[in-house]
Amino acid sequence: MSQERNGRTTSLYPDFIPSEEGHPATVDFEIVNTGDDRGRGLKSRATFKRGERVAKLSGIVVDHTTLDTIQISPTLFFSDPWFCRFLLHSCDPNLAIDVPTLEARALRDIQPGEYMTIDYAATDDKVTSQFACDCGSPNCRAWVTGRSERINEEGRVYLEINKG
Ligand SMILES: [Zn+2]
Repeated sequence: MSQERNGRTTSLYPDFIPSEEGHPATVDFEIVNTGDDRGRGLKSRATFKRGERVAKLSGIVVDHTTLDTIQISPTLFFSDPWFCRFLLHSCDPNLAIDVPTLEARALRDIQPGEYMTIDYAATDDKVTSQFACDCGSPNCRAWVTGRSERINEEGRVYLEINKG
């Protein structure tokens, strides 16, 4: 099925975002329902090589954190509800966001059908809400916090019940 329209691929970004080379497009990604409590996620339709730029990001800078945001400074957040919003967390992610350039890069080879994942703690001091993780990676932390947060009471109870 061709995603081409007028010879161009269709951007995941809406028309009011000025079009830029490298913006994520429907030819490379699809938004799917995970069928579990993670909600919707973003699956690759393409093959990406380790180190390759997967997407050039665009969005809006805001002064507060939401589910759509990536932290870009101690007080500023980059909101991208069209691509970043759908990046699921993994403790062993296949993607990293390079904050200075606002580019998503492959941390390893990515195959079609794989969910695009980032480590939420890699960019954000605090997460909107700490949560249990069952990403299946050998280094899974089981409870996800921002990089400068302590595990909250709910997390301590969760880890105590689920340890070993
Ligand atoms: Zn995990």
